[in-house]
Amino acid sequence: MDALLQLAKENNLYIVEDACQSIGAEYTFADGSKAKSGCIGNIGCTSFFPSKNLGCYGDGGAIFTNDDELAAKMRAIANHGMVVRYHHDMIGVNSRLDSIQAAVLDVKLRHLDEYIAARQAAAAYYNNAFASCDKLITPVTSDFTTHVFHQYTLKLVGVDRNGLQEYLKEKGIPAMIYYPVPLHLQKAYQDPRYKKGDFPVAEKLMDCVLSLPMHTELDEEQLAYITSSVLEFVNK
Ligand SMILES: *Cc1c(COP(=O)(O)O)cnc(C)c1O
Repeated sequence: MDALLQLAKENNLYIVEDACQSIGAEYTFADGSKAKSGCIGNIGCTSFFPSKNLGCYGDGGAIFTNDDELAAKMRAIANHGMVVRYHHDMIGVNSRLDSIQAAVLDVKLRHLDEYIAARQAAAAYYNNAFASCDKLITPVTSDFTTHVFHQYTLKLVGVDRNGLQEYLKEKGIPAMIYYPVPLHLQKAYQDPRYKKGDFPVAEKLMDCVLSLPMHTELDEEQLAYITSSVLEFVNK
């Protein structure tokens, strides 16, 4: 983010952070100061879809900013462009958070740190179990950010991914590919400027990633079952 902020400053750009999978993560700047994900650029966005780290019971989301002018504009856009009731200053959308979802989030927000700790504990179990297996590359860790593990995604080296996914499925363990198609290969974003091969890192990852179950209720018995099942297949 240090580099991105610099680039944005030099080119007079705004930074909109997609913090949908990183809410609660903390970034440490080069100068040692810290900021939470979603509160670093000009606008941060997060999703409260039920499976997210802070999920409501349906659809919902939030946008963050420290800029009062932007805040007023975003509030108006989210409410049909109204500033004064029934007076539309701009063209907006209906993007209000339902009261029922807000009530759920009001309670759950107080527990976000516990939820993150539970995910980090599950990730630590996985990391430890897979540490000596060179066919499984565990998620990147760094000293400039904490990881809140919305997903726990392995990179597989020389492992039949479909075979592993199928094997786990038979054992009642859901393992998913996030995501199977990168942006530049999505039909919606087809553009003569971008073709297959232009983003080799994304394309390589799309073929080797597999995400294991990750949520706040994984107990040790489940984690032991999942990790031993993965290792059984990989070492067979
Ligand atoms: C979930 C998610 C979204 C979309 O959130 P919605 O609530 O469906 O709008 C966007 N970006 C990332 C990274 C996500 O994980």
